[in-house]
Amino acid sequence: MNNPVLVINCGSSSIKYALVPAAPDQPRLAGLAERLGGVDARLTGVDGSGGEFSCPLHGADHAEAMAAILERLEGQHPVAVGHRIVHGGERFTRATRIDAPVKRAIEATVALAPLHNPANLAGVEATLSLFPDLPQVAVFDTAFHQTLPPRAYRYALPEGLYRNHGIRRYGFHGSSHAHVSARLDALGGRSHGGWLIAHLGNGCSTCAVWQGQSVDTSMGLTPLEGLVMGTRSGDVDPGLHAHLARQLGWSIERIDTLLNKESGLLGLSGLSNDMRRLEQAAAEHHAGAELAIEVFCYRIAKSLAALSCALPRLDGIAFTGGIGENASAVRARVVEQLPHFGLRLAAEANASTVGGREGRIDLDAGGPQLWVIPTDEEGRIAEETRQLLQEHHHDAT
Ligand code: ADP
Repeated sequence: MNNPVLVINCGSSSIKYALVPAAPDQPRLAGLAERLGGVDARLTGVDGSGGEFSCPLHGADHAEAMAAILERLEGQHPVAVGHRIVHGGERFTRATRIDAPVKRAIEATVALAPLHNPANLAGVEATLSLFPDLPQVAVFDTAFHQTLPPRAYRYALPEGLYRNHGIRRYGFHGSSHAHVSARLDALGGRSHGGWLIAHLGNGCSTCAVWQGQSVDTSMGLTPLEGLVMGTRSGDVDPGLHAHLARQLGWSIERIDTLLNKESGLLGLSGLSNDMRRLEQAAAEHHAGAELAIEVFCYRIAKSLAALSCALPRLDGIAFTGGIGENASAVRARVVEQLPHFGLRLAAEANASTVGGREGRIDLDAGGPQLWVIPTDEEGRIAEETRQLLQEHHHDAT
């Protein structure tokens, strides 16, 4: 059980991997195979001596990329493989050992996540063929949110769509929100408290956690609902689809591309989906970049205020993800737009808590706490995988 867990996050054209040791302070071998299927496919990462490497994969598919990753991990003996699976529907409320019926159940949720689940399954297949004897565990992005009450997960739509087709809010980024909420309970001195978490990366979502359980979240049936994201619109009037179809003759596919790939920070700024780039441009008074950041921050504040309704008590707010962990100006702007919450931001601590640092950024003046907690989805997936194996081990003995 002291051996590392291999964590695999398989996307449609990429595989992220990390070999997570049992001791949290030990270094991880990690990397990314990207642009799979293309001539410029590449594997980059960190090797055993901490050195960075980058090598071409020449049009490799998922299975070939996985073989190249395993070559890099030669001599390592993972105790299990933990797979990030995006959608677990209502069936999966926690990490689950992958066997044939579980694989079929993941396949059955493909309709709910047509872009993600097939890629995740390709990762499972590729790993199974290379590591047939290792336990494989599925850790679902949706599982942490299965504690949402009906008032938070139901849409105001006819019941048959929920009963027969699973149309409801599921929520995503579960491993990140679970990790951050566990850290908050450990660090905040208010275990079993009420927390709001803003995960701000390329994808963005908020989550309300009460006594360690997710009670509401901003993403819904798909990871498109809620906040403004890198290229995703987040909430729009649901009437927009019919309007674009009628007025511009747009197909569903065209509208889907618009909302997922051409909107968000990119669409608003007309410049970039990357917050670093937008902050530079806004400093030079680029109007689109300024507006994109303003809308982005306002919508986060609005979402946090809305989600506070799910909590009997608010102990604090935490920021995580590439933007949440680094963009101190974004955090300051979000806090500024929640004046009635009694938040007191510590300007210096806010400015210096960047670059993967964990820390408290409020003045400790009796109001809700403010935290920056670096996310660790791989660490959480490894932890849940290890925990499940231990339970199986105890059951068997
Ligand atoms: P993903 O959701 O793909 O895992 P990340 O969590 O890495 O993405 O977040 C990517 C976002 O974080 C990008 O918008 C990037 O510009 C932003 N980001 C990273 N570092 C900084 C920084 N120092 N200042 C502002 N934004 C940053």
